[in-house]
Amino acid sequence: MARDYYGLLGVGKNASDSEIKRAYRKLARELHPDVNPDEGAQAKFKEISAAYEVLSDPEKRRIVDLGGDPLESAASAGNGFGGFGGLGDVFEAFFGGGATSRGPIGRVRPGSDSLLRMRLDLTECATGVSKQVTVDTAVLCDRCQGRGTNGNSSPMTCDTCGGHGEVQTVQRSLLGQVMTARPCPTCRGVGEVIPDPCNQCGGDGRVQARRDITVKIPAGVGDGMRVRLAAQGEVGPGGGPAGDLYVEIHEQPHDIFVRDGDNLHCTISVPMVDAALGTTVTVDAIIDGLTEITIPAGTQPGSVTTRRGHGMPHLRSGARGDLLVHVEVVVPERLDHQDADLLREFKSRRVRDVAEVRSTHSHASNGGLFSRLRETFTGR
Ligand SMILES: [Zn+2]
Ligand SMILES: [Zn+2]
Repeated sequence: MARDYYGLLGVGKNASDSEIKRAYRKLARELHPDVNPDEGAQAKFKEISAAYEVLSDPEKRRIVDLGGDPLESAASAGNGFGGFGGLGDVFEAFFGGGATSRGPIGRVRPGSDSLLRMRLDLTECATGVSKQVTVDTAVLCDRCQGRGTNGNSSPMTCDTCGGHGEVQTVQRSLLGQVMTARPCPTCRGVGEVIPDPCNQCGGDGRVQARRDITVKIPAGVGDGMRVRLAAQGEVGPGGGPAGDLYVEIHEQPHDIFVRDGDNLHCTISVPMVDAALGTTVTVDAIIDGLTEITIPAGTQPGSVTTRRGHGMPHLRSGARGDLLVHVEVVVPERLDHQDADLLREFKSRRVRDVAEVRSTHSHASNGGLFSRLRETFTGR
């Protein structure tokens, strides 16, 4: 059964936060191990510290006020709230360790976390976005406010298990007599039954409901990141504090840009003559809109022009990554007679330009990244 945390601190149930703090400080000054070496005092100090931990936390205090024990449920139910089952039972069944009592699981327990997946395009990831989502979840029963009872009736200790939440059975097996504990079938491990359960929630203290939640996604999120919305998950059994809602981002691939952390890459195709003479190209950069990129005269295929600070914003610092523009030089596939004549004339003026085979090591790093990106582009 739940400990009397108010009694431990010597305060009333309506005590304010500052009264609780004052009471704890006063007791702690008397009982702190540094000033009071007495063993009893040390044990008492632990108790009042636990009481303060519980009552100074609004969610934990709410569990206490609903008749639960937040520390007990945390210890016995663990994080998964699987409650019973698992390895423990197997070990006990075989080795006759006897039924170590785990105590009731508590009627009021924290709710589960929920996970929601959200598709965002690159622009939404870059600028941040507010989206309304609809989730099917469990909310506090507004009829009984989580108490699970009708009117003013209150939960009673379960007769079947005497409030222990489990029943023990002795079985004969090859290994001899084996004692096993299993959750009480009457109260399902809670240790309490509600004689007159709430008409709306059937005693669970919560009901299924569809909720609209506005999710604010910060700028700079990326694929696979999770945004946590505290206490927007399911309300727990018995009206216990709600779990958290996690929104997992699924970034949709962009037609033009490839994201690499906070940097953005794109490829522009520049006609051979423009690469030789120099030109400007306009790119619709995600956040900055139309951005002019200068292609200097003599630009080589695979060269990269970097615009610092035109990439994605960093999630925490907000500092922007870079925009890296990869240049692909396009050679005309068909030439009419006039074009061909002009090029021949051009060639005759440039007799020193002869094709030569040489090591390409100096281009390896650039080319490596470029071809990797090219694969990303064409792979889709
Ligand atoms: Zn029971
Ligand atoms: Zn109810």
